[in-house]
Amino acid sequence: MQRILIVGGGTSGWMTATALSKLLLREQGARHWKIELVESEQIGTIGVGEATIPAIKAYNTMLGLSEDELLRATQGSFKLGIEFVDWGRLGERYFHGFSPIGRDLDGISFHHYWLRLRQAGLAADIAEYSINSMAPLEARFMRARPDMAGSPLAEIAHAFHFDASLYAKMLRQKSEAMGVTRIEGRITEVTRHENGHIRSLKLEGDRELVADFFIDCSGLHGLLIEKTLQAGFEDWGHWLPCDRALAVPCESVSPLLPYTRSTAREAGWQWRIPLQHRIGNGLVYCSEYMDDEAARHTLLSNLDGKPLADPRPIRFRAGRRRTSWIGNCVAIGLASGFLEPLESTSIHLVQSAVTRLLDLFPRQGLDAADIAEYNRQTEHEIHRIRDFIVLHYKLTARDDTPFWRRCRDMSVPDTLMEKLDLFASNGRIMHVDNELFHEPSWLQVMLGQGLMPRGYHPMADIRPLELVRDFAEDIRGVVKRCLPHMPPHGDYVRQVCAAPLPPH
Ligand SMILES: Cc1cc2nc3c(=O)[nH]c(=O)nc-3n(C[C@H](O)[C@H](O)[C@H](O)COP(=O)(O)OP(=O)(O)OC[C@H]3O[C@@H](n4cnc5c(N)ncnc54)[C@H](O)[C@@H]3O)c2cc1C
Repeated sequence: MQRILIVGGGTSGWMTATALSKLLLREQGARHWKIELVESEQIGTIGVGEATIPAIKAYNTMLGLSEDELLRATQGSFKLGIEFVDWGRLGERYFHGFSPIGRDLDGISFHHYWLRLRQAGLAADIAEYSINSMAPLEARFMRARPDMAGSPLAEIAHAFHFDASLYAKMLRQKSEAMGVTRIEGRITEVTRHENGHIRSLKLEGDRELVADFFIDCSGLHGLLIEKTLQAGFEDWGHWLPCDRALAVPCESVSPLLPYTRSTAREAGWQWRIPLQHRIGNGLVYCSEYMDDEAARHTLLSNLDGKPLADPRPIRFRAGRRRTSWIGNCVAIGLASGFLEPLESTSIHLVQSAVTRLLDLFPRQGLDAADIAEYNRQTEHEIHRIRDFIVLHYKLTARDDTPFWRRCRDMSVPDTLMEKLDLFASNGRIMHVDNELFHEPSWLQVMLGQGLMPRGYHPMADIRPLELVRDFAEDIRGVVKRCLPHMPPHGDYVRQVCAAPLPPH
C-alpha cells in the first residue's frame, strides 16, 4: 500500500486528501506513501453543500485548522441549528438547535419533567429552555464560554455555513502544501487486475495512473464503485421521494442569521443558508408532484434578496451503495450514497468515512475483516441518519397537497417506527449504537412536528410539582438573562472572522 489515488476534487475528494496527507505524509510517512488526486475541471463539482453540523469542529481540529481562518477563507458564518417552517402544519415553526434542552434532574432527562409540567398547564414552549433555540430569535451569537460552567453560555454549540467551492479551494491548498499531487484530467477508462481489483485509470490523452489503493470521490455516479465495481444501490425513494434540486445564490440581507432555514413547500422544501457575501438558496422537490418550471417559480419567488445567478438544476436519488469498500477501492461522499441535505449530514458523512478509513487503514495487504467492519459501520451510520430524515416527512399533519398526504400516510422503516412508538408512549428516546443524532435532536423534531407523548418517565413524578416548576422556571429565566450577553451574529462575525469582499 504505497500509491493512493483519490478520484474527484469536490468537497469529499479534498477533505479526504487533507486528512490523509496530514496523517500519512508527516515525518517519515512521505517516504512510504504517495497521494495523488485526479479531477476534471471540465466535469466540475456539484458545487453545493454549505451547511454543516457541530461535529465538523473535530475534523478541523484534527487538521489544525483554525475556525476563524476557515470562516475568513470561505465567507463563512456560524450556525446554531435549523429553523423548520411549515413542516408540522402550515403556519407553524420550530427550531432544531444543537445544544441540550434544559437540565437533567435525578438522572432523568429534562423533557420528562417538561411533559409533567405541560400536563399540569405549567410548561412554556420547549425552545425556551435552550440557548441555541432562543438566541436565533434575536440573531445573536457567540462561541461557548467553557469557563462559565453551569451557565447556558457554556453550552452553546455551533457549526458553520460556508461557500463550498471556497472550502474545497482552501483544502486543496492545504493538501498540496502537505505533499498531495493534483492531476487534471478526465478519466475515460478503468483497468483491472485478474482478481478484479482496480489497477489503473486512463485519462483523455493516453495518460495512465497506476495505484495500489483508490478512493472514489467522483460524485453521484460513482465512477469506480458503481460503474466499474457494480456495488449496487439501495434505493430509498419510497421514503424520501424528492429527486431534484434547484440551487441559486441571492444578495445578502440584514441581519445575518446564525442558522439555516428549511421551509416546507408544496412538494419539497427550500433551504436558506446565510453567508457573509450572499445567501445560498435551493429547492429540493419531488418531480412526480412538481415540474421544473413550478419549482423554479417557487424558488425565485421566495428569495430574500436579488438572485445572483440562474438556478442550477441537480438530479439525485436517495439511497446508498450496498457496499462502500470493495477490494482496493473505497467510495466516499456522494459516490457512496445520497441523503437530501435536510439536516446537513453529507459533509459529516465524508468526515466520518475518512476517520473510519484511517481507523481501518490497510497495513500491508487488504484484510477482509477490516473491509467488512468498514462496510458494517458505514451501513449502520447511514441507516440511522436516514431514519432521522424520514422522520421529518412522516410526522407531518399537512394535508394541503398530494405530496404531503403521501408522506404522512407512508410506512416507514421498522427502526424508525420503534423510535416513534417508544416516544409516543412515555417520551423515551434511546440512543442506539453511537448513532449521530442524540436525544435533543429527536426530541425537538418529534415535538416540533406535533408528536406529544401520552406519558413520561415515572421518576419525574417523585419530586413535588412546585419544585419541578421552580426548577424549570429557573432554567428558562437563566437562558433569557444570558441572551443580552450575546452580541448580534453580524457584529461577532465582523469582529472575529470578516472575509474580504469577493471580486465581482
Ligand atoms: C442539492 C444539494 C444540497 C446539498 N447541501 C448540503 C449541505 O447543506 N450540507 C452538506 O453537508 N451536504 C450537502 N450536500 C451534499 C454535498 O454537496 C456533498 O456531500 C459534497 O459536495 C461532496 O460532493 P462530492 O465531492 O462527493 O462530489 P462532487 O462535488 O460531485 O465531486 C466529484 C468530483 O469528481 C470528479 N470527476 C467525476 N467524474 C470524473 C471523471 N470521469 N474524470 C475525472 N474526474 C471526475 C469531478 O470533476 C469532481 O471533482 C448537498 C447536496 C445536494 C445535491
